[in-house]
Amino acid sequence: MKNISSNVTDELQAQTGVKVERCYQCGKCSAGCVLAEDMDYPPNYMIHLLQTGTKENLDTVLKSKSIWLCLNCENCVGRCPMEIDIPKVMDFMRERSLKENKQSKAAKDIIAFHRSFLDCIKFTGHLYEIGLIVGFKARTMHLWQDVKLAPKMFTKGKLKLFPEMVKDSHNIKNIFSKTKK
Ligand code: SF4
Ligand code: SF4
Repeated sequence: MKNISSNVTDELQAQTGVKVERCYQCGKCSAGCVLAEDMDYPPNYMIHLLQTGTKENLDTVLKSKSIWLCLNCENCVGRCPMEIDIPKVMDFMRERSLKENKQSKAAKDIIAFHRSFLDCIKFTGHLYEIGLIVGFKARTMHLWQDVKLAPKMFTKGKLKLFPEMVKDSHNIKNIFSKTKK
């Protein structure tokens, strides 16, 4: 009989095409990952945890900081002899982690950044730096962090007071509502 974790790896395969069982733990992905040292578990070990098929190990993946640190740079995919698309695995696990409310406390700021970034795109269609900063600070309460940099950035024209709006904002909102479904 299949356990919960196997169902999730089946779902992973159905949605992303990634078969974690093909990994033979050569470690090349982790050797080429610029963030492996900062992760709680390096990429090859994350795949190993999923290969074991236990609920406990699936939870370790969902609660890890690693899934939030991954930059989707694809260095690991380029080095993998089995072409295992680890960024797709990380993406899938991020979504799953949010859905099950298992996100790592250590990733709180990263998640706040993701949400603030997406809010900017949703409402303006562009990256609006001030909106991003305000959203991030409101979510994290890091109110005074880097505040001294603001005047310099204004004088250099790096921060625009008002957002540039995309012409067809309706389409952007549609993309967001379809993605949510
Ligand atoms: S490089 Fe590929 S085969 Fe090797 S450990 Fe990483 S995912 Fe597994
Ligand atoms: S995609 Fe993620 S796991 Fe792969 S090398 Fe880049 S940061 Fe590391």
